[in-house]
Amino acid sequence: MESICWPCAAPSLDPRQTVGEILAEPLRTHNLADGHARAPRIVDLLRVVGLDPTFVNRYPHEFSGGQRQRIGIARALAVEPDLIVCDEPISALDVSIQAQVINLLEQLQREFGITYLFIAHDLAVVRHIADRVAVMYLGKIVEVASSDALYSRPLHPYSVALLSAVPVPDAVAERSRRRIILQGDIPSPSSPPSGCRFHTRCWLRERLGNPDICMSVEPQLSSPDPHRPDHVAACHFVSELTNMVQPGAFLPAETAAPAPP
Ligand code: SF4
Repeated sequence: MESICWPCAAPSLDPRQTVGEILAEPLRTHNLADGHARAPRIVDLLRVVGLDPTFVNRYPHEFSGGQRQRIGIARALAVEPDLIVCDEPISALDVSIQAQVINLLEQLQREFGITYLFIAHDLAVVRHIADRVAVMYLGKIVEVASSDALYSRPLHPYSVALLSAVPVPDAVAERSRRRIILQGDIPSPSSPPSGCRFHTRCWLRERLGNPDICMSVEPQLSSPDPHRPDHVAACHFVSELTNMVQPGAFLPAETAAPAPP
């Protein structure tokens, strides 16, 4: 069974329902923990996400943002899912609370063997939590790789630009890095550019003299290295890119960071 965890729990929690009623709903809908078993199951769910079970009769507005996110996670866990889609689960939280929620998600994963599909814009968090990463641009996946491979050797110009924007907590390394700032507006996803949909903003295409193929032929995901078939990117000029970006250019502070191209 799949479940979902929302970016900001507050709008997804009915303000007229107590926490107990909120957690009872998926149990009732899926015929789980009926009758006398329901109350202990709700207590159990609250404990699992680190909330005091005596809060069961409180309403969502009586909780902090981090606590509300824990209620959202408890609700996702209620149906005993194999997969939870975490849609920006920490983006609305303070940094210190973000770390607590990430730790909780990791602990639950170890405990219950859950798979997460984790959607996020924070690349440091993605690197920390993900085994495999898919980079999307304008609604299409442009690169897929293991987390280590993506951060040590990105194969798509959009991934390179994203990683160049991640701050490095090392003043010397940070000064030696050059950020790639993408030019132009983001096109409409409902009417994407022809060929490669990144071509209107692609710094690599510009450096290569604006080849026509980028405008006319949509690149497919493929691997440039037969020894690494699980690292794929959708770009006609992956080889040119790998010659420009040094391996390890985007590793974290302790090993960073030669300048990107
Ligand atoms: S195919 Fe062309 S426009 Fe698209 S990412 Fe590669 S170089 Fe850039």
